[in-house]
Amino acid sequence: MGGDVEQLKQRWPLLDYLQQQNWAARPAGYDSEFVGLCPLHQETRPSFYVNARKNLFYCHGCGQGGDLIRFVELSRHLSFRQSLAYLAQQSAPAVDSATVLNEVAAFYQEQLDRYPEALRYLERRGVHDPALIKKLRIGYAPGGCLRRHLTAQGYCFDLLRQVGLVNSQGRDTFYGRVVFPCSHGGRTVNLYGRSLGDAFAHRFLPRPKGGLYAWEQVRHCPEVILVEGLFDYAVLWQAGFHHLTCSLGTHLNACQFRQLCDNQRTVYLTFDVDANGSGQQAAQQLAYRLRARGIATRRVLLPPGHDPNHFFVQGGDARQFQSLLEGAQP
Ligand SMILES: [Zn+2]
Repeated sequence: MGGDVEQLKQRWPLLDYLQQQNWAARPAGYDSEFVGLCPLHQETRPSFYVNARKNLFYCHGCGQGGDLIRFVELSRHLSFRQSLAYLAQQSAPAVDSATVLNEVAAFYQEQLDRYPEALRYLERRGVHDPALIKKLRIGYAPGGCLRRHLTAQGYCFDLLRQVGLVNSQGRDTFYGRVVFPCSHGGRTVNLYGRSLGDAFAHRFLPRPKGGLYAWEQVRHCPEVILVEGLFDYAVLWQAGFHHLTCSLGTHLNACQFRQLCDNQRTVYLTFDVDANGSGQQAAQQLAYRLRARGIATRRVLLPPGHDPNHFFVQGGDARQFQSLLEGAQP
């Protein structure tokens, strides 16, 4: 490890690092020495010195000093090991969001079995098949532990912020939520988090939701069932309906609409039949737009107050749903 540390410090001079962090400095008068305001404590007169030849800093105000790694420890509140991981990450080629989202999905998947309340919630929503839970990579975000996990893996805080996994105070975005990863073109592009309690709404990370859910698996099917929620998707899959996709809400984005129109097919619109009629209104508008593009549509009419998830949770079975499909109106 000692060799790695030396290599890292050589590859990344302290002064360069500080300047990347917008540290403003002027020559201190001595050979290769610079002075500026201390990034580690509040001050108005510069007392933070960097010796660029020795690759060391010292602050006469707060008395802190050391090398690059010590500076990272102090400024980012990381351990020695975490600081090394952080620097390795920073100097590595840029990690894209799909990589970190995959890592997060795997971490949340591991948590699921450790939290009985999460498994009970899935059970209550009618999702119980372990093979399906694994296939959809369903996980659980207990909250308060993601940032630590990812930092230890070498991901930098700025990336986590940028991807929307933590807020500006560094707190996990998802607390106490069942999590479904959403992929697009084989890359994880977002996470859907469903709160166990009713008090908090379901939500995505603040980033694009991508295309239709698991579209690659059904894009060649002549008939596709479209549902609006992931719990609808899960129970229908469990009941044996696999020519299935999900729009993750009643409003389709441009990419999702294009996907539905990219081939001749019949789309079975299976949106909520809710009291305010918003699901059916959305289905009607979508049917109209799809037909204008030459796509056949059928509206599946669930009993009033139902979405596909309720339908199965409240005792509906595959045979009954099949007859709803067969009775679906153009
Ligand atoms: Zn200082």
